[in-house]
Amino acid sequence: ILSIEHVCKKFGKFEALKDVSLQVEKGEAVAIIGSSGSGKSTLLRCINNLETVTSGKIVVDQDVLVETVDGVARYPSEKEIRRICTKTGMVFQHFNLFPHLTCLDNIMVAPLKILKRDSEQVRKEAMELLEIVGLSSKATQFPAQLSGGQKQRIAIARALAMHPQIMLFDEPTSALDPETTNEVIATIQKLVDQKITMLIVTHDMRFAKSSATRVIFMDEGRIIEENTPEELFNHPENTRLQTFLQSVE
Ligand code: ATP
Ligand code: MG
Repeated sequence: ILSIEHVCKKFGKFEALKDVSLQVEKGEAVAIIGSSGSGKSTLLRCINNLETVTSGKIVVDQDVLVETVDGVARYPSEKEIRRICTKTGMVFQHFNLFPHLTCLDNIMVAPLKILKRDSEQVRKEAMELLEIVGLSSKATQFPAQLSGGQKQRIAIARALAMHPQIMLFDEPTSALDPETTNEVIATIQKLVDQKITMLIVTHDMRFAKSSATRVIFMDEGRIIEENTPEELFNHPENTRLQTFLQSVE
């Protein structure tokens, strides 16, 4: 459902992604681990077009977001890019909710404004999503009235409201304390169980071990190891991965 081929991303002379290739099948939950600065966020941001690639190809659900012809990265029209990007839903470390909107309105705003869907139907669905993330009672409250974990669960509901083909999570729990982390992990686990395709950048090795179908280790802009959680954590091959795993234990 997602194909990344030979993607390179430079910031000036600095290469943040070096020839990254990755295929993700429908229903997979792929965890991306690696030390700070290894390019994890940049990779997600390229998939969601928050960054443009320098070269390479990205195909989302059979739509070409970018391909490189004669060494030049070619993107489709703005409108087409926007259409392709609605196929991915992104959840950030710092929730980025709209502070002036209630929880319910935060979830409803994109389906209404971007997809121009019927408001009654969107409201009904938003209430169902609140139920799924366990926050039905907070519908009319504002983000400032919620805990960090609750805000993050609203952010997840908001992303799901667009019916994305793929969910992208960038360290969804790293701004949270251990207790609220568990709430958010439980919510993400529900999505894994429902076979929602996801890429999740995480520092939570416990989650990567127990929930991911596949784990990817990035180092200095490259994917240098990729395996099932059992294999990757129990038999790391690359010495950089071995060192990394020791450091996060
Ligand atoms: P962390 O675990 O700290 O979030 P990361 O693996 O997500 O790290 P990235 O944010 O992808 O790392 O950054 C990869 C590299 O690219 C870093 O060295 C970073 O400084 C650099 N970088 C990221 N964004 C930019 C930018 N807009 N301009 C210049 N350099 C950038
Ligand atoms: Mg990051």
